[in-house]
Amino acid sequence: MSDKFDVVVIGAGPGGYVAAIRAAQLGLKTACIEQYKGKEGKVSLGGTCLNVGCIPSKALLDSSYKFHEAHEGFKVHGIDAKDVTIDVPAMIGRKDQIVKNLTGGIATLFKANGVTLFEGHGKLLANKQVEVTGMDGQTQIVEAQNVILASGSRPIEIPPAPLVEGIVVDSTGALDFTSVPKRLGVIGAGVIGLELGSVWARLGAEVTVLEALDKFLPAADEQIAKEGLKILTKQGLNVRLGTRVTGSEVNGNEVTVTFTDANGEQKQTFDKLIVAVGRRPVTTDLLAADCGVESDERGYIYVDDYCATSVPGVYAIGDVVRGLMLAHKASEEGVMVAERIAGHKAQMNYDLIPSVIYTHPEMAWVGKTEQTLKAEGVEIKIGTFPFAASGRAMAANDTAGLVKVIADAKTDRVLGVHIVGPSAADIVQQGAIAMEFGTSAEDLGMMVFSHPTLSEALHEAALAVNGHAIHIANRKKR
Ligand SMILES: Cc1cc2nc3c(=O)[nH]c(=O)nc-3n(C[C@H](O)[C@H](O)[C@H](O)COP(=O)(O)OP(=O)(O)OC[C@H]3O[C@@H](n4cnc5c(N)ncnc54)[C@H](O)[C@@H]3O)c2cc1C
Repeated sequence: MSDKFDVVVIGAGPGGYVAAIRAAQLGLKTACIEQYKGKEGKVSLGGTCLNVGCIPSKALLDSSYKFHEAHEGFKVHGIDAKDVTIDVPAMIGRKDQIVKNLTGGIATLFKANGVTLFEGHGKLLANKQVEVTGMDGQTQIVEAQNVILASGSRPIEIPPAPLVEGIVVDSTGALDFTSVPKRLGVIGAGVIGLELGSVWARLGAEVTVLEALDKFLPAADEQIAKEGLKILTKQGLNVRLGTRVTGSEVNGNEVTVTFTDANGEQKQTFDKLIVAVGRRPVTTDLLAADCGVESDERGYIYVDDYCATSVPGVYAIGDVVRGLMLAHKASEEGVMVAERIAGHKAQMNYDLIPSVIYTHPEMAWVGKTEQTLKAEGVEIKIGTFPFAASGRAMAANDTAGLVKVIADAKTDRVLGVHIVGPSAADIVQQGAIAMEFGTSAEDLGMMVFSHPTLSEALHEAALAVNGHAIHIANRKKR
C-alpha cells in the first residue's frame, strides 16, 4: 500500500509536531511518524521535551522548590512550616500526569488539524519515499513531496560511567527516583546537570557536580556565570570544576566514582549518579544509504540556514541539526520549514535564541556576551542592576542576582541581555523582543514598566547603560 502526502515528518518532538501542525494549517496534506512509547506502553507524542525533558524537569523543579521554600523560605514571612514532608512517589506521579495530559494534547491537536499519525519507525528511502515500520512490525511505504527529519537527540553515554539501572542513570532516569538519595553525584555542570542536581538538592540530597572543564558555563557571560556559581554554591550545590571522571564501580546500592583533579586521583561514593554530559543526534536507521542526505561524523544532518538538506524537498530540524539543542529552536525551525514548503519566505533569527537554566534563581541570556563582543573588537557600554535594589525582589525575599544590558558604544543598540535572578527566563524574553526590533538602550529606558515588577530590573539596567539609572548610584552621571 502507498499513500502520498505533501509533507511527511519523521519524529513528533517540539520540532516535528509543530512543523506538522503548521504544515496542515497551511493546507498541506501532512503525516507525522513517531515511535516513542511512554510509561503506559503506548506511543506518546511530544518527543524529549514533553516526555523526558523540558516539561517533566520543570514539574520536578517546581515541586522541589515549593518544598525547599516551605523549609527555608517561609520563616522570614512569619510562617512556621517545620513539619512539611515530601512524598516522592506523589511528586513523580504529578509529573507523570502533566506529561500524560500534554502528550495526549498533541494527539488531539493532530486530529483537530488533520495531521495523519503513523505509529512506528520512519526511514527515508531514495526519491522521498518513507518506509514506516509499524509497532506490529509491518512495513508500508509513504510517498512524500517533502520530508522533514525531526528525529531529535538522546543522552550521551560515557565509558567511565556506564548506566546501571536505578543507580547510574541518565537524565531520563533522574526524573524517576523513588526516594531522595542521600549522596547524589552528577557528572556534567551543564544545563541538565544543574537543573536535575537542583531538584534533588532542594529535597535534601547532598549533591556533588563533577565537571571536566575549568570554567563554569562557558557559553554564558562571565559575570553571570560567576554570580550564578556563587549563588548555587551558597545553596549547598558542590560544583567541582576541572574534575575528570575516569571510572565508576557499583557495589550493592552505591557507586564509587574515580576522578582526577588538580590534587590527582580521588574517589567519592554516591547513592545515585546522574550522567549529564550532553546529548547526541538520533539517526539510528533513519537514512537509507541511497537517500542522498548527508550527516557529519557525529551524526548531525547537514542543513543550510533554512534547514534544507542536500536533497531538494528534504529538510531537517531541531536537535538532529547544528545549533542549540533547545525546544524553542526546534519549534521555530519547524514553523520556518513548513512555511517555506508552502511557498512563504520564512526565515529565523539564529542570533536571538534565548538560553535559560531553570535553577533558582534562574540564569538566562540572549544576544552576545561581553567577552564575545570584546573579542570581536566591538566597543560596548554596559549597564547592570542588582535585584537587591528591586522593591519587588525584596517583597518576595528573592534578591540574589542581577540584570546586565550590553549596548553598542556608538549606536546604543542593545547587543545582549544577561540575567541571573528571579524570573530571569521571563525577563530575558522582553530583552529578546526589544532586540528583535533593534532597540537601543535609550528606547528600552523610555518604555514604561509596571511597578513593582522584577522586570523593572531590566528597565534600570538599560537606563544604567547611559548612566541614567534611578534606583542605584550610576558610575557615570549625566
Ligand atoms: C532533562 C531535559 C530538560 C530539558 N529542558 C529544556 C528546557 O527547559 N528548554 C528547552 O528549550 N529545551 C530543553 N531540553 C531540550 C529539548 O528537550 C530538546 O531540545 C527538544 O526536545 C528537541 O526537539 P526535537 O523535536 O528536535 O527532538 P526530540 O524532542 O528529541 O523529538 C524527536 C522525536 O523523534 C522520534 N524519532 C526519532 N527517530 C525516529 C524514527 N526513525 N521514526 C519515528 N520517530 C522517531 C523520537 O522518538 C522523538 O520522540 C531539555 C532536555 C532534557 C533531556
